[in-house]
Amino acid sequence: MTSEIAIIGAGIAGLAAARKLRAAGLACSLFDKSRGLGGRMATRRTGDWQFDHGAQYFTARGPRFRALVEQWRGAGDAAEWFDGAFVGLPGMSAPARAMAADMTLITSCAVTALRRDGTQWTVLTADGPVDTPANGRFDAVILALPAPQILPIAASAGLSFPELEKVRYAPCWTLMLGFAAPLAWREQYVRPEDGVVGWIARNASKPGRPPGKETLVAQATADWSRRHLEGSAEAIGATLLAQVQSAIGLQATPDFMTAHRWRYALVEQAADKLCLWDGMVRLAACGDWCVGPRVEAAFDSGEAAADAVLHG
Ligand SMILES: Cc1cc2nc3c(=O)[nH]c(=O)nc-3n(C[C@H](O)[C@H](O)[C@H](O)COP(=O)(O)OP(=O)(O)OC[C@H]3O[C@@H](n4cnc5c(N)ncnc54)[C@H](O)[C@@H]3O)c2cc1C
Repeated sequence: MTSEIAIIGAGIAGLAAARKLRAAGLACSLFDKSRGLGGRMATRRTGDWQFDHGAQYFTARGPRFRALVEQWRGAGDAAEWFDGAFVGLPGMSAPARAMAADMTLITSCAVTALRRDGTQWTVLTADGPVDTPANGRFDAVILALPAPQILPIAASAGLSFPELEKVRYAPCWTLMLGFAAPLAWREQYVRPEDGVVGWIARNASKPGRPPGKETLVAQATADWSRRHLEGSAEAIGATLLAQVQSAIGLQATPDFMTAHRWRYALVEQAADKLCLWDGMVRLAACGDWCVGPRVEAAFDSGEAAADAVLHG
């Protein structure tokens, strides 16, 4: 019976897997290269400004995710923004932090490779093996990362998953704008039909956001983001600002502005499997790329990976 599990990636998929394994009595260590948790369900805090610059909201269709969302709402970690669209409270990463409570977290830790010694796994970074409360030895591993980031780590252990080859992501350039004074534009969001910006949200219209500040988040379309993927954040920001100004008639000059490139934002072509599992070496791979471009898809895939470890 597996007793100690390494989960690489503390986005929703990795956290869903950890939560399910822990409920079954197994110990997990979660590794993430970032300082924070939640992956693309992200909150950017800079000075007094706060933006949800990744996932804008999440829906809950299946009973298991719906039950979890109700739990988050009851605990004040999430709220409804508009009809059936939920957001984390006070930011998008709050539910991830709630899921990770009391878990073993190893953050700011970019995993580069895995090594198998006998029946156990060791997790490696560029500096070598990572020591953990489990003495750095694991009976199973779950890779809960975007598909392109799984490939080199799986290859380091001599593993390949042909299903990963067909997965495709759309990139997304995202613009964050902060204003000290209220704006004339009072919508919650708009999806402009023309131009290079496909979504503009009044971030500050979400429940529980810091009062007294106006914040906008705008996303470039997938096609435009792909064509300008290697552009500088400054030049991209200037272009997107002009597009936002024309789309919503914005005249105010932002007091804060930054652009963020998501190289792997939304799944365009999924693997169409709930997760991948190699029972010989006890390694699973999961993430939104298994199912589709949604927070709930990542959750479902993470739970499936936990099931594979438990019953595979
Ligand atoms: C701009 C944008 C808008 C979106 N809008 C929506 C929306 O409105 N609604 C919706 O439902 N979904 C939306 N999504 C998609 C949603 O955010 C994702 O589907 C979901 O969060 C993916 O979760 P995940 O756990 O599979 O992956 P991720 O959240 O990407 O988690 C993977 C984790 O792995 C870590 N990691 C990567 N490499 C390593 C490494 N080598 N070592 C250690 N850790 C590593 C990362 O830091 C990250 O924390 C959006 C995404 C983006 C980017």
